Amino acid sequence: MAYQVTLIRGDGTGPELVEATRRVLEGTGVAFEWDVVEAGVDIMETAGTPLPDNVLASIRKNKIALKGPITTPIGTGFRSVNVALRKELDLYACIRPCKSYVGVRSRYSDVDLVIVRENTEDLYAGVEYPVDSAEAGQIIGMANGKIRQDSAISIKPISRTGSRQIVKAAFDYAVENGRKKVTAVAKANIMKYTDGLFYEIAREVAKDYEGQVEYDEWLVDAMCMQLVQKPENYDVLVMENLYGDILSDLCAGLVGGLGVAPGANIGVDMALFEATHGSAPKYKNQNKVNPTALILSGYLMLKYLKENEAAARLEKAVADVIAEGKNVTYDMKADRNDPTAVGTAEMADAIIAKMQAG
Ligand code: NAD
Repeated sequence: MAYQVTLIRGDGTGPELVEATRRVLEGTGVAFEWDVVEAGVDIMETAGTPLPDNVLASIRKNKIALKGPITTPIGTGFRSVNVALRKELDLYACIRPCKSYVGVRSRYSDVDLVIVRENTEDLYAGVEYPVDSAEAGQIIGMANGKIRQDSAISIKPISRTGSRQIVKAAFDYAVENGRKKVTAVAKANIMKYTDGLFYEIAREVAKDYEGQVEYDEWLVDAMCMQLVQKPENYDVLVMENLYGDILSDLCAGLVGGLGVAPGANIGVDMALFEATHGSAPKYKNQNKVNPTALILSGYLMLKYLKENEAAARLEKAVADVIAEGKNVTYDMKADRNDPTAVGTAEMADAIIAKMQAG
């Protein structure tokens, strides 16, 4: 029976990347019925909202979604649809594998890390008060002179529940994927209550996996240096939302950039798969950007569906196309102006051809 999957095309380069990924997933032979829905800046103009109700309804019904990137206006305009989806559906765990593939240009060749990022709380909870607002004034009043009068305020909630869920997700991922170590990353020397709580809970959860998965801790600043110096020493990294956002891009950089960094957002009984990168709007409608990150997100979706054989074939086809270096997009060529670079659709064609040949 075909899997019913919600397909969110996104905006900017999203629709091109989603189309390439849809074709590759169908090329595996696994049957899908796509429920195509629209979210983002384009639908905003006609629907008056960037996240129409039918999008959430479709994901709640199908329990699984593949999503193209969606633009978030900076400073003003609507709040992030990406953050709203994760919050509304309680997709509390963001799993971002960062793995070196032969042929991808990078300073490192043997990185195999997984970032497990908390998705629903921290400074992304959306509890913010503008400068000169009554609410900001109240908090400033409570802070006994520690906050300047002309401050805007963002609140950082870290809960026991959220911390336990995400650390457990990291350990479970480690067990299911044969990983050896989970590292908790925070800044508990400065944020003693919030990040201190995160560590406290992480240590508790780690005890349940003793003898099975190793546990250690790093402060986020030191972790950044460790990762650029010795990324091969780390395995699964678990952290709060903001550190996870930043370290995801850092680790994507270690393995060749955003073009190859996939992601999964997982909740209790629902999952949404999307690339780490954004909508790269300057390349919209040019059939130019790299589909690898979204295609590898499709690979994570196949694994989530326990279609392991199809997943392995897909990953091998992607790895082979990249290793050959012929049918790849401009960003994977030594010279970004290389005229032999292919487009988004043609790279997808090459991956499909490899799966069918192999
Ligand atoms: P971006 O990831 O869209 O692009 C940054 C740069 O990375 C691009 O200019 C491009 O050079 C490169 N790049 C990104 N994806 C690529 C690909 N597939 N192939 C080749 N090169 C690629 O980041 P940005 O410019 O900061 O964000 C653009 C918009 O996307 C913003 O509105 C942002 O909020 C949004 N965004 C959405 C998501 C999401 O949908 N989950 C994630 C991050 C950013």
